[in-house]
Amino acid sequence: MDSDAGDKRAPTLRHAGEILALAAVYAIAGRTGLLLNAVSGFATLVWPPTGFALAALLLRGYRLWPGVFLGALIVNVLTGAPLPAALGIATGNTLEAVLGVYALRRIPGFQPSLRRLIDVVGVILLAGATATMVSATIGVASLYLSGIVSRAVIRETWSAWWLGDLIGAILLAPLILVWTTRPRPKLSRPRLFEVALSFGAILIVGLFFFGSETAVFRGTLGRGYVFFPMLIWATTRFGLRGATSGIFLVSVLAVWGTVTDHGPFAGPSLTSSLFALQTFMAVAAGTFLVFGVVIEERRRAETELRDAHGVAAEANRAKAEFLAVMSHELRTPLNAISGYSEMLSMGLADPLTTKQADAVMRIRRNQQHLLLLINQVLDFAKLEAGQTTIDARAVCVREVLDTLEPLVRPQLEAKRIALTRCDVDPSLVASANPPRLRQILLNFLTNGIKFTPEEGRVSIAATRIGDVVEFTVSDTGIGIPADKLEKVFEPFYQVESGPTRRFDGVGLGLAISRDIARKMGGDVSIASTVGVGSRVTLVLPVYLV
Ligand code: ADP
Repeated sequence: MDSDAGDKRAPTLRHAGEILALAAVYAIAGRTGLLLNAVSGFATLVWPPTGFALAALLLRGYRLWPGVFLGALIVNVLTGAPLPAALGIATGNTLEAVLGVYALRRIPGFQPSLRRLIDVVGVILLAGATATMVSATIGVASLYLSGIVSRAVIRETWSAWWLGDLIGAILLAPLILVWTTRPRPKLSRPRLFEVALSFGAILIVGLFFFGSETAVFRGTLGRGYVFFPMLIWATTRFGLRGATSGIFLVSVLAVWGTVTDHGPFAGPSLTSSLFALQTFMAVAAGTFLVFGVVIEERRRAETELRDAHGVAAEANRAKAEFLAVMSHELRTPLNAISGYSEMLSMGLADPLTTKQADAVMRIRRNQQHLLLLINQVLDFAKLEAGQTTIDARAVCVREVLDTLEPLVRPQLEAKRIALTRCDVDPSLVASANPPRLRQILLNFLTNGIKFTPEEGRVSIAATRIGDVVEFTVSDTGIGIPADKLEKVFEPFYQVESGPTRRFDGVGLGLAISRDIARKMGGDVSIASTVGVGSRVTLVLPVYLV
């Protein structure tokens, strides 16, 4: 029982403690804000409590609202407001924080660590620019009703109040949120040095412009831009942390300078200088907050992309390795099938009947087909895994072409297709790997024959064009639709696939050919018209002596 009561009391006490702490921070921050020349005694240049209240309610929940109310009441009573006016102002301040938090929580996926552009823009526009109007309106109305401000200065008081709260919100809330919710950064020595350098630069420039008695700096509002290079530096290198801290430091320096009547914002009257300063602070804070989060989002996207690329490359390597191992394992039993069926067909066991011989022949044909497929898969897997090195040397083009026709003669004869070959200059020498070059051209020829109807024509040619040798294999076959011309180079892609497919093959020939060609410093391309025919082109460098 005792421990139960203790458990219940602890959160309540803690809650009360948090409320009192917030009230105290609010009151102290409010008194500090009011030190900076208040318009009509209450509306001040910067109202830091708005930022504290917003951050506290975002981090610890709505239930801390009494802290805001209490803090605001204390400040206003201490400043000399009659109780009804102080109660009104405190209500406005509390509503401002509660509404600000409510609006931000309506943003889907909002996190106080402000990692997305939409979250930062939300803080600037919803909590900073909009919710603060509530406080300004209720506050100024309370002052007016209590007779503290006259009708003549209502507008001026309202603007100062609103801008003061807005600056408090966008200057302090992001600073507190970013520093309290994100894991502490581990900075290397050079990074620490850079932090010191960039913030040191802000400090020195700030002291120079705002601390100096030099009259030439007075009233030159545009000179606020002297901080921009350092703010850009801090923001690009340290994201939102750099931006929030940089703006804060600049603002402290600028406020101090202006209040002591120094520096670029000092004008003919204090009120006009303060308005100039307010404008600068609001614009700088808004700009660099957005800039900071955009930089962070971009950096995150780059990291994600790099990670995804790493994962994809690793998956691809694993896949290639798997294919290589599998292909190797499959070839061993196939060799046994080949050996035994050959033995049978030679009649080494017993002479075969015609039917048996026919069956064995079918077994052998299928075995050879399967072996071809497996060899292609293995070849492709090795190329993909980068395990294949292809060295190029001088190759006589005509000699290579001479070796091809005998290899495809059976297929040509089976379909009564004519193979024509143009004359090739005997001195034409390409830079290539001979077996690989033969493999590519054989693949083109096999495709040409495979996709050409009986009694069609296939031709092969090779010519020199500038610094390259261009090999072309043309056919009068079925052709390839224009939108599939690039796809045929993708591994395993076949224009006609599925159960209706009439042609054998795995769809690796062109993928392998292009890979090899590129490894030899060349390339493969294809042009085609459906129903008319196709032309596949391989270019390779001329061998230069
Ligand atoms: P495979 O011939 O083993 O299917 P390829 O990579 O060599 O694999 O070719 C891929 C696809 O490109 C073929 O399936 C076919 O659809 C198309 N193709 C290739 N060459 C030709 C050609 N000469 N005529 C028509 N289609 C072709």
